[in-house]
Amino acid sequence: MRRGFFPLTDISKAPKIVTAASCGVTPGRISPHARQVVERLQDAGYTAYLVGGCVRDLILGKEPKDFDVVTQARPEEIRQVFRNARLIGRRFRLAHVHFGREIVEVATYRATPSLDPQDDDGNVFGTLEEDAFRRDFTVNALYYDPQEGLVTDYVNGLDDLSHGRLRVIGDPEARFREDPVRMLRAVRFAAKLHLQLTEEGRRLLPALGPLLQEVPPARLFEEVLKLFHTGNAVATYEALCEHRLFEALFPGVASILGPHADAESLLARALVSSDQRLSEGKPVTPAFLFAALLWEGVREEAMHSIAQGAAAAEAWTKAAEHVLREQLRVIMIPKRFSVPMREIWGLQSRFDRRAGRHAFRFLESKRFRAAYDFLGLRAASGEVPMALFDWWTRFQEATADEREAMVGALSGPGEKRPRRRRRRRAVGG
Ligand code: ATP
Ligand code: MG
Repeated sequence: MRRGFFPLTDISKAPKIVTAASCGVTPGRISPHARQVVERLQDAGYTAYLVGGCVRDLILGKEPKDFDVVTQARPEEIRQVFRNARLIGRRFRLAHVHFGREIVEVATYRATPSLDPQDDDGNVFGTLEEDAFRRDFTVNALYYDPQEGLVTDYVNGLDDLSHGRLRVIGDPEARFREDPVRMLRAVRFAAKLHLQLTEEGRRLLPALGPLLQEVPPARLFEEVLKLFHTGNAVATYEALCEHRLFEALFPGVASILGPHADAESLLARALVSSDQRLSEGKPVTPAFLFAALLWEGVREEAMHSIAQGAAAAEAWTKAAEHVLREQLRVIMIPKRFSVPMREIWGLQSRFDRRAGRHAFRFLESKRFRAAYDFLGLRAASGEVPMALFDWWTRFQEATADEREAMVGALSGPGEKRPRRRRRRRAVGG
């Protein structure tokens, strides 16, 4: 990753300053804590603004996720203003001002970006103007002063925002090379905010996508969650595929699914269901997301080994191990998610064993629900009979007596239904 390369050719020294009211932004829409932070910094004699996603979202009429503040005050000075501030970061320090559960992040103006929160090397404090030009997109570089009621714009972000344009600040190729994660951010913002990345930016994505493989895998994990777990997974996935970034993130899966999974596929259905859950306020877990993202890779590999004569259980275990190992080269999936992910896969074979006490015992297992939801996706995508999924749905809802009757009604302990037997051989482990 190249750093410190800032083509500042198009700096317009005089920013455009407009009233916040003319952009539809009123102080009432801001978290009172964030306002208080700006006010207290200003009262202490420092300039301070709200910046980034919150200003952009306010202008778009959306509810900001959180509020970021930037100021002229240095970290130590920020701490002197707030008793409830904690400094974080090693080299480039930020302050977190705590108000119960709400945290307002306060950063000092800087001239170079912090590309990786884990690695704060090479940042230097700067002016407000430098702070604007180190940001990624023009719509993310707007500064709002709630006390004065003004929005400051060095990069023509207001104009871009009003035209629904997502424009990289500076030379797009240099900025994407400097930090390839900006390509993922571009796709995410475009999908979430219905902005259109400029033609030049769009053209670069397929060619520069492979640079993502040089980004620290731990950082990519965080970015993948932002891509798929913020309620726009379907649109984001479409855009990632269109710009050939999905294959850079998931090379193993993309080589099987092709450049774009069809709408009937397990992955496409998983993303629809995840967006749906989030819109209903239900929880989602990275274990389930990655189980769906990587499943086709595991299935294909296991099927291949089984066709070559390998024992089912071992074939599935080895395929899971291999696919995960390859994926970890690009994206670091923490153990606390990869372990339950593999359990979701491994438990699939137990849905075929319903006779005797098997079904009763399985129902008690801790990971039953996630495995069952995953079975639902497999059934919907035509991989296993819908009747099997329906049986498990009814089994869960049934009374104790009804459950006994359901198991009793199965065709004997071996359940000699040819379909099922095929599955048992297929999904081992
Ligand atoms: P979200 O709604 O996802 O929080 P955001 O724009 O606020 O969107 P953050 O990741 O919270 O995104 O970053 C805050 C701001 O920091 C951005 O608006 C942008 O100005 C700047 N920024 C973040 N990441 C980068 C980056 N990789 N390169 C340059 N600037 C960045
Ligand atoms: Mg933000």
